[in-house]
Amino acid sequence: MLETLRRIVQDVSAAPDLPSALAITVNQIRDAMHVAACTLYLADEDNREYVLMATAGLNPRAVGRVRLNRQQGLIGLVAERQEPLNLEDAARHPRFHLVQDVDKEDYHAFLGVPLIQYRRVLGVLTIQHTASRQFHPAEVDFLVTIAAQLASTLNHAILSGATQELLNPLATGTRALQGIAGAPGVAMGIVTIPHLLAELDDVPDRRAFDPSAEEAAFRAAIATVDNELRGACERLSPLLPPTEQALFTVHRMMLSSDSLIGDTLAGILQAGRWAPAAWRDAVLARVRLLERAEDPYLSARAEDIRDLGRRVLHHLRAGSGRQTEPVAERCVLVAEEMSVAHLAAVPPERLAGLVCLRGSALSHVAILARAIGIPAIMGLGDRPIGRYEGCAVIVDGYQGRIYIEPDPAVREEYRQLIAAEAELSAELNALRDQPTVTRDGHPLSLYAKAGLLTDIATVRDSGAEGIGLYRTEFAFMVRESFPSEDEQYQIYRQMLAALTPRPVVMRTLDIGGDKTLPYFPIEEKNPFLGWRGMRFTLDHPEIFLTQLRAMLRANAEFNNLRILFPMITTVEEVEEALRLLDQAHRELREDGWPAARPPIGVMIEVPSAAWQAAQLARKVDFLSVGTNDLTQYLLAVDRDNAHIAGLYDNLHPAVLKTIAHIIAEGHHADRLVNLCGEMAADPGAAVLLLGMGADSLSASTVSLPRVKWAIRSFTRAETRELARQALQLDTVRQVRRLLNDALRRAGLGEIVHEIH
Ligand code: PEP
Ligand code: MG
Repeated sequence: MLETLRRIVQDVSAAPDLPSALAITVNQIRDAMHVAACTLYLADEDNREYVLMATAGLNPRAVGRVRLNRQQGLIGLVAERQEPLNLEDAARHPRFHLVQDVDKEDYHAFLGVPLIQYRRVLGVLTIQHTASRQFHPAEVDFLVTIAAQLASTLNHAILSGATQELLNPLATGTRALQGIAGAPGVAMGIVTIPHLLAELDDVPDRRAFDPSAEEAAFRAAIATVDNELRGACERLSPLLPPTEQALFTVHRMMLSSDSLIGDTLAGILQAGRWAPAAWRDAVLARVRLLERAEDPYLSARAEDIRDLGRRVLHHLRAGSGRQTEPVAERCVLVAEEMSVAHLAAVPPERLAGLVCLRGSALSHVAILARAIGIPAIMGLGDRPIGRYEGCAVIVDGYQGRIYIEPDPAVREEYRQLIAAEAELSAELNALRDQPTVTRDGHPLSLYAKAGLLTDIATVRDSGAEGIGLYRTEFAFMVRESFPSEDEQYQIYRQMLAALTPRPVVMRTLDIGGDKTLPYFPIEEKNPFLGWRGMRFTLDHPEIFLTQLRAMLRANAEFNNLRILFPMITTVEEVEEALRLLDQAHRELREDGWPAARPPIGVMIEVPSAAWQAAQLARKVDFLSVGTNDLTQYLLAVDRDNAHIAGLYDNLHPAVLKTIAHIIAEGHHADRLVNLCGEMAADPGAAVLLLGMGADSLSASTVSLPRVKWAIRSFTRAETRELARQALQLDTVRQVRRLLNDALRRAGLGEIVHEIH
């Protein structure tokens, strides 16, 4: 059976298109199971009808024409029950419905199984036979197994739009793709795909007709790429600290390497090859050499050289008659996975939105989009993104939806929404200099979050009381190697100087999980349960001590630093981290630095830390609750996994109860408790957290005005009552409804987070 199954799957995968794949499937199943007919139905987009898409044994003219509504016949019944239906004689079943010119009266035995992927019924697969008999359990198992495999292939085809034309050949108009809401906001723009460059391996061998013209074209392409890299570096300079721009310098050095250029010129001038082939050979020779290297750093460089190779090739081709596309005014960057470097593909002022096929709302790209203030959609799933390049799209970051080539009505609706948003933002900006107090005057500290140096200006202008979470790892992630103490000192000093006397909470390096360093790959099966945060830095005291020294030195002049330890799971980890901090402090003083010991905090983002909050609090000066990780670990939902993103919600009653417990324990130990996860940026949740007793909230600068508006609209007693009620509820939906009702009653209907 396994062999038959494997053969069917192989043949289906080799099919040139979806109709052929479906035809192969039904024919092979009919033959393998020795039955009279095998037929496949697919649900249409609204799930209202099942369309006969392929058959071996029924009338072939019925394909694409027969549509059964959900309540009709045995097909509807299989889909409704979501389980196999095995009948000795189909015609005797009360739900049997004869379709004229299709069904055959001499078919009796019937077996239907649903095609299900991620709880959704995609269609129904049936087999029929002339005899009156029940199908054997082994036959049922076989069809169920095939259906499970087929469902995943079909799901892929549905996502890529391949089924849509088959199901509804006459349909026109807007297509909407559903992903995960990554960063709020709405934008219109043109799909731009970074690095859609020519592939080196595809370059054909040709002779150079005019070697000196080939040489000139090659030198021009090198100069263009060099200019591009320099330009990208300049454009990114508002986004990246100067030290991080070293990455571009390294690429420019590789590009101008004598041997790479020399080998290419030899290929053109001596061997007489045209420039693209000479360049291809020079680049691929180096790629192969680096790929063979044992050293992971060197093998990672192979991809850099290949990338440079593609860029130059692209310009060589454009120079030979092909024009490069101009960058659109408003770009929506679409990529499978997005790195900070991808953002360099378009100038920041043209970046309208981000769309990522992988990841979820808590992936660091989404967090970055929120920091920049542009909408982002994550986890769109496997889609042929190349197909959308150049399409006009609307990105709805609230609903996690992207509309491709929207029709005028949809466009107009969104245009109005964008105008209303701009108006609200302008009104909210007027709150910037107002204090964050409840309607009856009780203060709450509102801090900003930061990670890149650009944030300095935006934080200063945001009216935040300081920085509640500075994620130091972003500066490590966009580099080629671990930054030195001096490089880090410069970055931290700039941040502290810009904010003084306002406090800056710097979190020590928190890598692992979805935050990896290109120069220090960590391969793990379960990275979120692995070597991350404090576990990594305690195992590498040389990296940790360097960072602590850089922070303490930077603070010597300003004294507004606070240090935060991430991913703490045990009391011993805090003790060890404090021991290393004392060592760094002592050594600096011995070196003559007037370094003061700053207040220290611990992040509570793992259940074990939540339940030892009291003991941990007594070891340090403050607590900071990281709800992003706390939610992931409490609910056992990987924050980066798009398939289960619907299960991730920080309003889960278990999360709320845990936060309430942490705050109570922190206060019991006489420590302040900050909230620094993304939850604090949701106005409804922020009001709830205040009611639960949080002393301060940290949110991205873009979210601060809404949070402040919400807090200023409630009295402290009202927030407490809201928290009391929320803590008694059973489900996320109930909590969300409670918050939405409260926001509407307070006149904040515009920022209500809709329940989907
Ligand atoms: C958190 O886990 O809530 C947090 C703020 O840390 P990060 O999102 O950087 O893991
Ligand atoms: Mg965290």
